[in-house]
Amino acid sequence: MAYDFDLFVIGAGSGGVRCARVAASHGARVGVAESSHWGGTCVNLGCVPKKLMVQASEYGADVDDSHGFGWDTQRGHHDWAALIAAKDREISRLNGIYVSMLEKAGVRLFTGHARLEDAHTLSIGPSALDPQAAPRRVTARRIVIAVGSTPFVPDIPGIEHAITSDQAFHLPQRPERVCIVGGGYIGVEFAGIFAGLGSTVDLVYRPHQPLRGFDADLRAALHEAIDLRGIRQHRGTTPTAIERRQDGSFVVTLNHGEPVETDCVFFATGRRPKIAQLGLEEVGVKTVSGGRIAVDRHSQTSVEGIYAIGDVTNRLNLTPVAIAEGHILADYLFADHVREWSFATTPKAVFFSPPVSSVGLTEEEAARQGAVDVYLSRFRPMRNTLGGSPQRTVMKLVVDQASQKVLGAHMLGDDAPEIMQGLAIAVTAGLTKQDWDRTIGIHPTSAEEFVTMRTRTRETPQTPAE
Ligand code: NDP
Repeated sequence: MAYDFDLFVIGAGSGGVRCARVAASHGARVGVAESSHWGGTCVNLGCVPKKLMVQASEYGADVDDSHGFGWDTQRGHHDWAALIAAKDREISRLNGIYVSMLEKAGVRLFTGHARLEDAHTLSIGPSALDPQAAPRRVTARRIVIAVGSTPFVPDIPGIEHAITSDQAFHLPQRPERVCIVGGGYIGVEFAGIFAGLGSTVDLVYRPHQPLRGFDADLRAALHEAIDLRGIRQHRGTTPTAIERRQDGSFVVTLNHGEPVETDCVFFATGRRPKIAQLGLEEVGVKTVSGGRIAVDRHSQTSVEGIYAIGDVTNRLNLTPVAIAEGHILADYLFADHVREWSFATTPKAVFFSPPVSSVGLTEEEAARQGAVDVYLSRFRPMRNTLGGSPQRTVMKLVVDQASQKVLGAHMLGDDAPEIMQGLAIAVTAGLTKQDWDRTIGIHPTSAEEFVTMRTRTRETPQTPAE
């Protein structure tokens, strides 16, 4: 049968765009449908605007620190509306770049909501991006679902008063008080943004430390850093209700402790695959726990010829991972050579100020495999000596005792994500502590500490999994 396309991608986010472009570069006839934002969550409601807002939030503390270096600068007023407008202009520019990149690659673009009719047919109807779009039908030999995820909020009384990250990027004004629920990536990053811009922030999270899944020493260091920024932490705590007052403020009731009075309630309690209205059930595409699309090792769903990549599969929900999944899939379908990536050593970063970044195993994970040597360093970075901030930098290496391979590197401190990207190569390559030790440092930097940590801090015996 002759199809309109060799490949049709639903969703022009990071993964979908890469998959479409690479497939087109291999000679495939490719179409893409996007219902809301060219570039997807990362460009429009995630990584990119978030990082710009983190950067905006850091100038105030920089001004304070500059006094120790002889400057007499004073903190002025921050114009929230100006920041949002500047950020939106940059996002529009990036939207245009995404569209032109796809067009230059020869990909045919469709604005509208795509829905599966059968394993090779899609209907494309109106959507937020093009409410007047005339319904169309296209056929494709293969279909890729790359629709991403959407914020999840728990069902508690008054939850309709809460915003999520989707709205946080477009608030008309900065709230004086914000109560953020969730101690994961988004909760921690936005707590830093709002605190840096002058809001009073309450951060409510269930575990004892923020960032479940990160190394315990890093989590403890982050907890201290959040305190230092003046953010009130309610740990081991869950909200049970939100009430709106006459004056427009809110009261968040917690399962223990005093209720929080605030001007904005912001839930950052995870994301869920965006699978609604795709026609998955009708076509037989299976979803599993939490509504994620189940895929095999080639990203194929339960229906032959239909694939899924990125957050909608809930594997490792990070932009570079979705991009790699899209690239691998396009290579697999349309080229002889499939580029390889090491997902096991995917580096991670949480853009608090100072940021947190990690690659490889935590001490706990490594100790499940065998005894480990731990190297831990805590010091005041040079900038803070004159600047006056009491914030310390924390660095940690987790080394397999038997082979001396560095299994994990962890850092909280200025530029941690920039530093970790380089270290991720060493961890991916499986280099040993001796390789790290024979590397000459760059002086004076914080990063040099990673190649000068000579004395083992502790030895952790093999610990069986619980
Ligand atoms: P996370 O999974 O990182 O964190 C969710 C937080 O919400 C956790 O603290 C979790 O607690 C808590 N939580 C979940 N359900 C409830 C509930 N019912 N009541 C109270 N608390 C709850 O999700 P985020 O929303 O922060 O981010 C979503 C994903 O987006 C991230 O996991 C990451 O993959 C990606 N992301 C990546 C970024 C980056 O790379 N810098 C930045 C932002 C997002 P508990 O730990 O107890 O489960």
